[in-house]
Amino acid sequence: MTVDISNVFQKLCNKIAILLIFVLVELIIFIWKLTSDTQSITTRQYIKFIEEKNPTIRYNKKLNSHGDCSVCLSEFEEGEKVRRLKCKHTFHKDCLDKWLQDYFATCPLCREQVLPDNVVLKHRQQRNQQSNIEGNDENLPYVLFLLRGGNNSHLRR
Ligand SMILES: [Zn+2]
Ligand SMILES: [Zn+2]
Repeated sequence: MTVDISNVFQKLCNKIAILLIFVLVELIIFIWKLTSDTQSITTRQYIKFIEEKNPTIRYNKKLNSHGDCSVCLSEFEEGEKVRRLKCKHTFHKDCLDKWLQDYFATCPLCREQVLPDNVVLKHRQQRNQQSNIEGNDENLPYVLFLLRGGNNSHLRR
């Protein structure tokens, strides 16, 4: 009898150990995801960073810059939202923000660095993650197939 009880106890211990390892692994993955999320920079944070370094201003002729935006090649109009970089080059706010997000974090004219490398890198990581999530459409037929399979087995019962 005592042998049986210790056997049952041992099996129980084994199950608990496996469960604990499983929970631990889940926890590690969870923490890892959390920390990797805080490391990346969202587009909103990225824009905020640009804003801090190069605040939005309203264009007026006293700014004494070349009269047009080199990104969209159109002339500035009085009162338009613009950003003036450290290199004294001026661009439309929207044009520059899009350029800094999609192309390079440098001045479109003289290539002077606008944002630190680590900020750009973290933002790129975030964008890549986003495009991975959005790019899950390829898996949709497979998910539908699984759902349909699940329904069929349910009906058969
Ligand atoms: Zn422009
Ligand atoms: Zn410049």
